[in-house]
Amino acid sequence: MKKYRTRARRIMALAALSLTIILTGCAGKKEAAGDKLNVMTSFYPVYDFTLKVGGDKVNVKNMVPAGTEPHEWEPGTRDIASLEESNVFIYSGAGMEHWTEDVLKSLSNKNLIVVEASSGITLKEGHEEEDGHKEEDDHDHGEFDPHVWLDPKNAKKEMENIKNGLVNADPENKDYYEANYKIYAEKFDQLDQSFQETLAPLPNKSIVVSHEAYGYLCSAYGLTQVGIEGLTPDSEPDPARMAEVIDYVRDNKVKTIFFEELVSPKVAEAIAKETGAKTAVLSPVEGLSDKELNAGEDYFSVMEKNLAALKEALE
Ligand SMILES: [Zn+2]
Repeated sequence: MKKYRTRARRIMALAALSLTIILTGCAGKKEAAGDKLNVMTSFYPVYDFTLKVGGDKVNVKNMVPAGTEPHEWEPGTRDIASLEESNVFIYSGAGMEHWTEDVLKSLSNKNLIVVEASSGITLKEGHEEEDGHKEEDDHDHGEFDPHVWLDPKNAKKEMENIKNGLVNADPENKDYYEANYKIYAEKFDQLDQSFQETLAPLPNKSIVVSHEAYGYLCSAYGLTQVGIEGLTPDSEPDPARMAEVIDYVRDNKVKTIFFEELVSPKVAEAIAKETGAKTAVLSPVEGLSDKELNAGEDYFSVMEKNLAALKEALE
């Protein structure tokens, strides 16, 4: 009898558990006080901004795995299944995640609150090659430069949009999200100021980079970027482009060829070898490795390293 009762209790507990799963599976606005919002983000910068502003009121799941270059990434069935059970989906937009429109259309989760973090940011046109032709693969990436987050002022705007999305989904914690946003808004302002103050007096203004991710950063601080590759990092540069870049490096006495950790440095190294320049890392903050994440790196620490690398290259 006793055994039976224990078993019955266990069955009831299981039934209650599955009911909880069904209830928390309901998306959109949060169901009950005390529950955390389930938020999915597309790739690293918006993931980091969401963690910071959402704090302990949100469960955040990032789609693009650590150490993966996000430009060509697409969600799989497990990502779609997670989206069906999320309250909020946050992506950067401006053409970075080319898959969002199709994926969102296919979802049956009609209560999902969708936040395009770059909304309201003035976008730069996509890169045009010197011969006047747009990049061949720009159908994948839209007509705009998607790398808005590399200007700290834009990153602040992205976090503000994310904060507003969380408030919309979870109005009872509005004050909490607002307070977190305020802390980081100040950090973005400080970062912007230290970029301004560090870079303005430097004599050199041209950077050579592996892929042209730094359009917004360059506009913000009076720099010019020359990309070995275009807006996406995986397109193989043709020999003519490499020759142009080599000439540019020589003519402008560029000291450093920047590459990034998620992409092979082979081409940057070849140009450095040819010109006597050295190579260094400049991160587009598109994805941190597990090692960086475990070491506690984030948008701010990587941008500080970027600033130090730029200073060394341009002084
Ligand atoms: Zn990029």
